Amino acid sequence: MLWTNRIFCGMIKDSVYLRDRQMRNLGGIKSMRKVVKFGGSSLASAEQFKKVGDIIRADKGRKYVVPSAPGKRFDGDIKVTDMLYACYAKAEKKEDITASIAAIRERYMEIINGLGLSLSLDDQFEVISENFKKLAGSNYAASRGEYLNGIIMANYLGYEFIDAAEVIVFHEDGTFDAETTNEKLSARLAECDNAVIPGFYGATAEGKVTTFSRGGSDITGSLIAKAVHADLYENWTDVSGFLIADPRIIDHPEAIETITYRELRELAYMGATVLHEDAIFPVRQEGIPINIRNTNAPEDNGTWIVGSTCQKSKYVITGIAGKKGFCSVNIEKDMMNSEIGFGRKVLQAFEENGISFEHVPSGIDTMTVFVHQDEFMHKEQKVVAGIHRLANPDAIDIESDLALIAVVGRGMKSTRGTAGRIFSALAHKNINVKMIDQGSSELNIIIGVANEDFETAIQAIYDIFVITRL
Ligand code: ADP
Ligand code: ASP
Ligand code: MG
Repeated sequence: MLWTNRIFCGMIKDSVYLRDRQMRNLGGIKSMRKVVKFGGSSLASAEQFKKVGDIIRADKGRKYVVPSAPGKRFDGDIKVTDMLYACYAKAEKKEDITASIAAIRERYMEIINGLGLSLSLDDQFEVISENFKKLAGSNYAASRGEYLNGIIMANYLGYEFIDAAEVIVFHEDGTFDAETTNEKLSARLAECDNAVIPGFYGATAEGKVTTFSRGGSDITGSLIAKAVHADLYENWTDVSGFLIADPRIIDHPEAIETITYRELRELAYMGATVLHEDAIFPVRQEGIPINIRNTNAPEDNGTWIVGSTCQKSKYVITGIAGKKGFCSVNIEKDMMNSEIGFGRKVLQAFEENGISFEHVPSGIDTMTVFVHQDEFMHKEQKVVAGIHRLANPDAIDIESDLALIAVVGRGMKSTRGTAGRIFSALAHKNINVKMIDQGSSELNIIIGVANEDFETAIQAIYDIFVITRL
């Protein structure tokens, strides 16, 4: 893969050059092998399918296609995955699902008819209805969105359809089996030059259909890229790349040109949902770059996600992301810093109650544990009792409705005063900073604010680093 990395370093500098080169397949350079994943909004209607078809046909290297289920066609529309979950919930309550199944079927028929395909999904819908009534599981239910879209996509492109249940393997306990998956995928895909493999799901050895978490088609694409030793994993969505901040908060944020896997994982984990945070691992092992592209603007270069890069980020920060809905548990005890094992005892109280923590900033006599409010709420008194029993603190104080914001950037390491600038930008907007925590990698700074200050805080940070370029 060194070959790929070296070429990409130069290529990213000038992505027009990159695309020319890809298209022309210059002598001496092997044809690129690409895995292309298309998200729900890219496949929400026949019109969108046609754009996707054009993109795939424009480059012979786009050999393996991973479709999501049809997403929203317009604001207020419902994703097919959500329709399937809702329909299955009805089946569980023994309610009549005829109308719900018909509405889902209609979504697919609109695509099939709009593409002029002579494809019938009658048999599949019969089996699906039966399995819903037999309560085959909500994972099975949700997976049908990708399964059916995969059948349509394969028919439309004239590619082979490979059911993900045959090649993506989960353990009986629902966890993902990376090793068996890689073996199965490599063996199966070695047999075919082009294929459509639906995203989001797989199955256990016993054939029980299991899914990744929401947005998991991104993971499927990455697994396939790894298995076929792809040169590139293209992830096509509805925005022109990974943007510096969430476009639902910031008006037309700039796209990030190049970002490292580590930076992206921090941002994805903290709410930049454009790529599932776990989609990084398989390609990272192989050094395969990911290119995020826009199905509605294929001429845009999008964002390059790479292992490491000689590209300096345009601004001190690479991106900002955040999530609402955290609680802080503040534990005080005089001389806590000199009590060996104090932190472990506190965290044990969370562990015993099955609660994971997000951040643990600490001082000399205080330690704060940030947790997800929805996980923590109904167990809070048990946890508090546990901390008292195990660590014997002086006081425990809980604060709810907090948001965490991650400011991420490889450039922060070599720039002094980033945290100070964030502080002053927030102070300027009268935002009270509850917590600030700089990761030891100096790649990210995490800031805690009240939920109600979340959007204003992101805007203030964006303004200071991107608009005024301080
Ligand atoms: P897909 O269906 O193609 O997988 P997603 O809806 O999962 O697409 O992800 C794309 C969406 O992610 C965008 O439409 C945007 O609203 C949202 N998003 C949140 N943060 C970011 C970000 N930093 N950059 C780009 N998109 C973001
Ligand atoms: N369709 C699934 C979801 O809505 C998976 C995906 O889109 O990646 O979460
Ligand atoms: Mg997605």
